Amino acid sequence: MIHDAVIVGTGFGGMGAAIALRRLGHDDLVMLEREDDLGGTWNVNRYPGLAVDIPSATYSYSFEPNPYWSRLYAPGRELKAYCDHVATTYDLRRHMRFGVNATGAEWDEDAKAWTVHVEGGEPVRGRFLLTATGFLSQPKLPDIEGIDSFAGTVLHTTQWDDDVELEGRRAAVIGTGATAVQLIPEIAPRLAELTVFQRTAIWVTPKSDAAVPRRLQRLYARVPLTQRIARDAGSAVLEAVMVAGVLKYRQLHVLNSLAARLATRHLERQVKDPETRRKLTPDYSFGCKRPTFSNTYYPTFNEPHVHLETTPIDRVEPDAIVTTDGTRHEVDTLVLATGFDLWGTNFPAFRIVGREGRDLGAWWRENRFQAYEGIAVPKMPNFFTLNSPYSYSGLSYFTTIESQMKHMTRLLTAMAERGATEFEVTEEANDAFLDRMTERLGDSVFALGSCSTSRSYYFNQHGEATLLRPTSTLNAFREAGRFPLEDYALT
Ligand code: NAP
Repeated sequence: MIHDAVIVGTGFGGMGAAIALRRLGHDDLVMLEREDDLGGTWNVNRYPGLAVDIPSATYSYSFEPNPYWSRLYAPGRELKAYCDHVATTYDLRRHMRFGVNATGAEWDEDAKAWTVHVEGGEPVRGRFLLTATGFLSQPKLPDIEGIDSFAGTVLHTTQWDDDVELEGRRAAVIGTGATAVQLIPEIAPRLAELTVFQRTAIWVTPKSDAAVPRRLQRLYARVPLTQRIARDAGSAVLEAVMVAGVLKYRQLHVLNSLAARLATRHLERQVKDPETRRKLTPDYSFGCKRPTFSNTYYPTFNEPHVHLETTPIDRVEPDAIVTTDGTRHEVDTLVLATGFDLWGTNFPAFRIVGREGRDLGAWWRENRFQAYEGIAVPKMPNFFTLNSPYSYSGLSYFTTIESQMKHMTRLLTAMAERGATEFEVTEEANDAFLDRMTERLGDSVFALGSCSTSRSYYFNQHGEATLLRPTSTLNAFREAGRFPLEDYALT
């Protein structure tokens, strides 16, 4: 049986794609999800302190506003509840199959369809294939000698277990990314000792969070335009930060320096000990790596039972972490806030083979990471890759999702009008797009800033910053509705 489309992933990207396809009349959808519930990142991440760090009015579908976010930056459980609400409202659950791990997909030239292989089950087939598998979805377990021999509790932040007792424990957190910044202040008060192992410091700016008063929530519900204004204001600020601080570094690096200054002041105000301050100060330009914000992260390091360790880890023993200076840090609980593997095991998240045997992962690695408008790849007919190089512009992922929904709608509408059953982006259009993105990156902090020590996942293994689309979100959204249809071969 050949379905209209197979979508892999039931996070916000996969659900947005399903909504777009349903609006176009494609009702026979199969959505595969390896977890046992929907929601992608907001289902998997449940660690203490989890919250969105994009204003919630902006971090949601524009066509499905939620007037009832409790805070400017809503906690993770509200995001998960919103995922559930969207799935119910748009009747998406009936398409979803949980606990199904896609392991490979190939284009069948005879059937003009994709075959998606799944672990331990029958393959699923669809005219279209959409991968919505996320960037931050393959947890990275650190490759540290002896880590498997650790006798205490080990928790990666994506596998948080609320039943694990933290009270009175001696814990280590490895990693100081955005996840650790949220988690550390939450767990520190419960622990007897906490040692934070930092390899690369992160830029942290103040966080202006607040509860959304009930009467404002009621106003948003009664007069949606008011929330729309809040959303647009949030989007405008994010756009300005991204364009000025990251993409137009050549022209506006003074703004980038101001952001670094703001973060440095924040640190100076919040941490008493000069040596700890020095260790917490990044040695790379603001924006090379994703910054974050918090009012509670830095003060945690003033606590006498919290230690910041910057000597590299040499090995793990059953009851300790040993640093390269020979010091044994005895711990009974190991928290791995070590993030995700983007460029090794992701891109794509499973093997995808298109026309003429093109293996997407191999092709990306042997050539350059690329995708036309961040969504289509030559020799990959009827395939939308929603988490691909150059797909993510701006700071709210929803601007990307909605641009991609628009792109799909324009293309699939044109196909229907022409009676076509197949699309494939041309090599020429893809090359031209790649050239344009490469040129634009030349103005960005990634090219002109001091990024070599940042260990930023924005950069791939070839040292190219191919994750973010170096244009404004407005540009991405406009192009999604205007790209030349001749960029695709429709047959
Ligand atoms: P991350 O930013 O990749 O941070 C991982 C941390 O683990 C880094 O400090 C890294 O150090 C360290 N690490 C990894 N392997 C290590 C090793 N072998 N030895 C020592 N240290 C090691 O991951 P994350 O904090 O989970 O955040 C990922 C992304 O998720 C964020 O950038 C953000 O986009 C998103 N996020 C968003 C929110 C939000 O919206 N509120 C919250 C959390 C996360 P190096 O830097 O030296 O590699």
